[in-house]
Amino acid sequence: MTRLALAFDLGGTELRGALVESGGRVVAQVSAPTMAIAGSDAVIGQIITLAGALLTQRPQADVVGIGIGAPGPLDPKAGIVIAPPTLAGWHDVPLIDILGKHFGLPVRLENDANAAALGEWRFGAGQGTGSLVFVTVSTGIGGGVVADGHIYHGRRGLAAEIGHMTITGEGDRCFCGAVGCFEAVASGTALGRRATALTAPGDGSLLRRLSANGDVSARHVVEAARAGDISALELIEAEARWLGIGFTNLLHLYSPDLIVMGGGLANGFDLLAPAIRATVEQRAMPAYRDVPIVPAQLGDRAGLIGAASLILWEGEPGAPLAMAQDEDSRHGATEHADAREAGHG
Ligand SMILES: [Zn+2]
Repeated sequence: MTRLALAFDLGGTELRGALVESGGRVVAQVSAPTMAIAGSDAVIGQIITLAGALLTQRPQADVVGIGIGAPGPLDPKAGIVIAPPTLAGWHDVPLIDILGKHFGLPVRLENDANAAALGEWRFGAGQGTGSLVFVTVSTGIGGGVVADGHIYHGRRGLAAEIGHMTITGEGDRCFCGAVGCFEAVASGTALGRRATALTAPGDGSLLRRLSANGDVSARHVVEAARAGDISALELIEAEARWLGIGFTNLLHLYSPDLIVMGGGLANGFDLLAPAIRATVEQRAMPAYRDVPIVPAQLGDRAGLIGAASLILWEGEPGAPLAMAQDEDSRHGATEHADAREAGHG
């Protein structure tokens, strides 16, 4: 029988679950709007409900464990969700412990951006590379770093906050409180803000027609650029230059084999690529200039598939926590199984 993992992608707005094969194929998928303001007990209840729905779809499934991608900050080793800004009432929630006890299965937890990086590395655009940087550009900018075959965690699992590296000394304030963060100048939100400032309601521009005279979003800019709109093409050019500056920093810091760009703005990757490339050529030292920069391949499933691989690929390269956790979780799982049997007896 094929080994499957239950995988969850816990987002602030949507909770998604899937059953995933070790080859990365999603065989069943479910989702629900996250009860984000209802606290951790409610959301954990939702995870259990979705797991039940998935197992009902595949009653014969040989489920070997549960992998979860959740918003940071979190401690992947201890299995604790610390205090994500998008989930109300989550303070030091021992998610691995709670779900491990409930299901009697090994559970692994990873930062959602790291989980997506793992997904793209093992099954998507990064297959076969030893090191890559995954950058997701949408409302904000996040990412994960695979360095020499392992997710790079750093102290307390806090490494690779790509969106908050400072790349300029001016501009709008980032939600983190600083000025000049990569995210504040290069996210989809920042692109939409620039497009909105450049135009005015009722000015007849394509950007405002696409947005029905409301605020212009990054999606509208990409759409207008595809139609050949000059203003939109200039906005894309400026956006790509900011991305190129950030990517140049990532090349110098991590020397990856590949940079993978995902997130909503990756829909416009083909439009952005020439100016990203040109900026890297100008700014990166010669030895770094030939590193490919490519779009992500797994779309919004990268996080789910990567989370599943925490279980299915344990012990393979890229499972940095396996050795630290194996002992504990094996004992844990055995105890739970014993407890269940005792209960039945
Ligand atoms: Zn910031």
